[in-house]
Amino acid sequence: MTGFYSDTDELISSSSLFAEIIIPLALPKNYTWQIPHHLQSRVKPGCRVEVVLGKNKKYAGIIKRLHNNKPAAFEPKDILNVLDAEPIVFEQQMKLWEWIAQYYMCSEGEVMAAALPSYFKLSSETILICNEEYGDDFSALDNDEYIIAEALHIKKELRLTEVQQLLDASHVYPVIKRLIEKKVCFVWEALKDAYSAKKETYIIINPVYENEDALADLMNNWGRAPKQLELLLSYLHLIKTEGEVTKPALLKKSGASDAQLKGLVEKNILWLEKRTVDRLRYLPLHINVDFSLTPAQEEALEKLNELFKEKPVCLLHGITSSGKTQIYIKLIEQYISHGKQVLYLLPEIALTSQIIRRLQKHFGGYIGIYHSKFNQNERIEIWNKIKTGELKIILGARSALFLPFTSLGLIVVDEEHDTSFKQYDPAPRYNARDSAVYYAALFGSKVLLGSATPSLESYYNALQGKYGLVELNERYGGVKLPAIEIIDTKQIVRKDKSKIILSPQLKEAIENALERNKQIILFQNRRGYSPYQICAVCGWIPQCKHCDVSLTYHKLSNKLVCHYCGTTYPNVTTCAACGSHAFVQRNFGTEKIEEYLEEIFPKAKIARMDIDSVRGKHAHDSLIQLFEQKRIDMLVGTQMVVKGLDFEHVSLVGILDADSLLSFADFRVNERAFQLMEQVSGRAGRKEERGRVMIQVANTKHPVLHFVQQHDYAAFFRYEIEGRERFFYPPFSRIILITFRHKLKERVAEAAQYFAAALQKEYGKYIVGPAEPPVNRVRNQYLMELLFKIPKDIAFINKCKAAIKDQIVHLHQNKTFRSVVIVTDVDVL
Ligand code: ADP
Ligand code: ZN
Ligand code: ZN
Repeated sequence: MTGFYSDTDELISSSSLFAEIIIPLALPKNYTWQIPHHLQSRVKPGCRVEVVLGKNKKYAGIIKRLHNNKPAAFEPKDILNVLDAEPIVFEQQMKLWEWIAQYYMCSEGEVMAAALPSYFKLSSETILICNEEYGDDFSALDNDEYIIAEALHIKKELRLTEVQQLLDASHVYPVIKRLIEKKVCFVWEALKDAYSAKKETYIIINPVYENEDALADLMNNWGRAPKQLELLLSYLHLIKTEGEVTKPALLKKSGASDAQLKGLVEKNILWLEKRTVDRLRYLPLHINVDFSLTPAQEEALEKLNELFKEKPVCLLHGITSSGKTQIYIKLIEQYISHGKQVLYLLPEIALTSQIIRRLQKHFGGYIGIYHSKFNQNERIEIWNKIKTGELKIILGARSALFLPFTSLGLIVVDEEHDTSFKQYDPAPRYNARDSAVYYAALFGSKVLLGSATPSLESYYNALQGKYGLVELNERYGGVKLPAIEIIDTKQIVRKDKSKIILSPQLKEAIENALERNKQIILFQNRRGYSPYQICAVCGWIPQCKHCDVSLTYHKLSNKLVCHYCGTTYPNVTTCAACGSHAFVQRNFGTEKIEEYLEEIFPKAKIARMDIDSVRGKHAHDSLIQLFEQKRIDMLVGTQMVVKGLDFEHVSLVGILDADSLLSFADFRVNERAFQLMEQVSGRAGRKEERGRVMIQVANTKHPVLHFVQQHDYAAFFRYEIEGRERFFYPPFSRIILITFRHKLKERVAEAAQYFAAALQKEYGKYIVGPAEPPVNRVRNQYLMELLFKIPKDIAFINKCKAAIKDQIVHLHQNKTFRSVVIVTDVDVL
């Protein structure tokens, strides 16, 4: 990347200037364009430029490097235009893209496509949509803008190619950019979000009364209307504890009426403000880290700071509810007080309104939230505020890693073991945790990985001394970790052999908890009603037409659903094989559990949390808040209930079918099962008394259960790491999974064989397969897999990756295999 360091002026002085440009596509390499003379003074690495690729497709690409070396093989085309006066990304971001592309075997363009908000990536396929709210007064627009605005007004949407026909080709992008800024139109993606935005009324106090004396004066001279005074006091209390106050929260807290609130608003003491929930919130810029750590937490923090002097990465292994989040908050405060920026990565931002609220309470408006559900304007706003350094802390899911930080000091990776940090599809199939370690190194900044159940990889790295390790083994408030009871479901055989939902023991425990006004969480990792419908006569099971999986019955919709491709079918009442009408339902999903609970606990308030029940953007959030406010007694859910939630009153957790966790055909099955069970257990008894966890399982001898029962991560690790070493799985090897997809079964098998055979000689002993995966057909495509387990020698790994890439090209040159889709996934989870 020499071009980065050289002075553009110096490059310009020589007659012709070229640029290596990244285009948001899966190209085998970056191509070179020429910079025409009149644009030379405006180009810088990191700026977007408009280029033509192929015949006439236009793209907004990013200049990676400027140089004077004319390509020998071809005559480069001129760039058409420069879109940014200043770079939108810096050297570090482009280095991260380059690293991800190399490590995860994709193109820099694919990384760019994932990294940039779509606003920055206009291409010929982009659709612009008329913003009806703008109206038809175009007097503020210039000539070009007017032409497009008018066309949009009539046609409602325009393809970029249509815009190109309307305007002189050389300045299409700047016009669009201005139209978007002036809110005349959206890029289509933005529109999708604009519709789902929800408004909520927030209460703020007239800033006059932020002055303590003015406030005291107001209250001392309060006339009549004591109810209103109470309401004001409730507000002051809420704003202090919550950092923000919504109208419903205030009315609930104070027990006041709408009219009383209106009174205060009319007196100009409180103000109402309609805000889009989740939108960037303009919280005051204040930092208020007003709690102190316990001695154990204090010690952990000191140790971290000590370790960070030598190690760029540390792992904080703290049991559930030990106060890891509080330690992050203290650490973040340190970094921002030194003028640094902090990135706080979470597995799934949509599941984490609790954390958002906790951090906002302490860091107010210094925090930005970066969310794939945000619309483009909001994302651009965050992007720019990070670039200028105005925002100090970013809370986000994996894509927040791509923001243009300038003075990054610390990255916190919360729940670092979570598989959501890995992007599954499409490329780049990167793990944000591991990429964060690379990215941080570019800034010389620190990475803190935190978890109660660290990934085997991270804990291994810590034990090897590659990462610093700090452990926190006591819960805040001294509450003990919950007692775990294992319930042997083999003892409870039912006549129809169907699986038991609630054992008598668990049922009794629920009754007991309900009586004591405690809350309960029940976990089952299957959604829907019944995962299998089986013909009682011949055993036929309805299957998806497009995938090799059985269908799940959903009672609410009375439909059969394929959980792989999403296709829904009408429910079947007649067996397709024998014509019988008798079906039995094996196994149970969350929907059935909910129904069953409602039947046997008619008085309890029961709710379900899975992706079927929380489809809306805010449904999940409101469920969590309802549960927090104790308006729900019992929550039934899938993985979603596991994700780091902090509820005060949960005394009982039930894991209804642990066998389903322990029986996956995957080398990580033990790790996943341990993490899940330990994490769900961690939701019990966090604050007051010791909680209780009941695990229903048939395979009671499974070793993982024993470690969960002891809450002994270290022992689990020692057990599991041995197997990994013996079978040469990570962390001892690096794995690359290659998946072949084609609509013909023979073709895909042949392709996989052909591919494997070519690499056999050199890599044979590191290859497993080719083999069919357990589900070998999805969306009408047959699948074959080939797994590489490669020794962790960087040179060797790179050689192997190169060989795989070559082989893919080679295979695709063969006419028979041209249409076989090949996907490589490095460090697959
Ligand atoms: P973890 O992230 O390790 O699961 P949390 O940080 O969520 O734990 O802490 C659990 C609960 O205990 C939270 O409600 C938190 O507010 C509270 N807590 C932990 N440490 C402290 C502290 N030092 N002061 C006040 N409250 C604390
Ligand atoms: Zn049948
Ligand atoms: Zn399907």
